[in-house]
Amino acid sequence: MSNNNIRYFDNPYEYLKWEYSRQKNKKLDLKNLNIDILFSLIKNEYDDIEFYEKDKDLFKKLKEIAINLDIPITEQDSSGYFILKRHSENIIKIGDKNNIAIPNDIVLGTLPLNYLDAFTCVFPQGQRLIALSEGLLLFLYSMGRVVSSFFSKINDDINRYKSYVTFDFNSDSINKNLKMNKKGHEHFLETLIVYFAYENLSFSKIYYKEDANINLSAVLWDTAELFIVAHEYSHIILGHLPEEKDFIRRFLDDDSMLYQIVRNWSEEFSADSLAFQLTMANNQNTGYGLFGCYLGIEFLFACLDIIEKVYNIEFTETHPSAQMRIENLRRYFKNTLPETSQNILKGSRIIQEIITTLWDSNKDNFNYTINHIFKNINFKKD
Ligand SMILES: [Zn+2]
Repeated sequence: MSNNNIRYFDNPYEYLKWEYSRQKNKKLDLKNLNIDILFSLIKNEYDDIEFYEKDKDLFKKLKEIAINLDIPITEQDSSGYFILKRHSENIIKIGDKNNIAIPNDIVLGTLPLNYLDAFTCVFPQGQRLIALSEGLLLFLYSMGRVVSSFFSKINDDINRYKSYVTFDFNSDSINKNLKMNKKGHEHFLETLIVYFAYENLSFSKIYYKEDANINLSAVLWDTAELFIVAHEYSHIILGHLPEEKDFIRRFLDDDSMLYQIVRNWSEEFSADSLAFQLTMANNQNTGYGLFGCYLGIEFLFACLDIIEKVYNIEFTETHPSAQMRIENLRRYFKNTLPETSQNILKGSRIIQEIITTLWDSNKDNFNYTINHIFKNINFKKD
């Protein structure tokens, strides 16, 4: 990091504008897209015409929502903001129910970046920002689909009132699927390569295929996203926000990882524990149940662990490793709910096992492909 480019922002809006302005390939936002033209251009990507039509209808509805969203700056990506706003509203609701005071003037924004992280900061006039990078949302979505594809459905009952889907969590059947389901391995490898080499997961083929296990994958990515947002809120609730002087220190370099504030590890662990409580308390609103909510938390840290493995980092000055963080939460869960936690902890281990197995069986291929791509393409960081 160099000291030449110290940037200083008066307020969160200015900062968000700057992040969008340095974007190289300007992405057209959903609210400005002509859905019919877009879908006629991508028609060949879809194998299934029924799903194509369904997806097109969905995008029309999403565009409607996007148009009516009250976004912080005009450049703000609507779909990312919609997700962030939804989780934020849930956390405020849970806070209210549990007498946890959450300031109501927090600005939210997503950043057009590939990073797998979120951050919170305070501006000179005391305004606070919670920002989430879009890479995070895309990565969790793709990985949620990959992981859930290794579960078999036991029943798929649709009765008059509700549809119930039960998934087989038996490790023998999952291990069998890990051997047989080659497509799942391909999608895992594709997700990692597209994320790391091309830095934009919206190119991923997974988007053009219907998610057969959406009932499970949605629990995973939705809860993982909620946990991340809850973690950032927890820093605010617990009074961890750095002072103004620390905040300036983050904008040292155009390419810096802006959110790398020097925090001590105990702040990270306590923000995780509070985020855990908020996320688990949310199960009453979502209907995922405690098991589903906890599954999403295990899933999140298993994903972060893969990223650390790729970058070959264990822990940094600012953040304890994903493995340390999930172990802290498992301990916390065990201590706060000794009886309930037992079966949940046991049953959810499979998530980490699946992701570890996927990494172990695909890492050579991944490293080979990445080396090949970087040798053949002259990547310029300008
Ligand atoms: Zn943190």
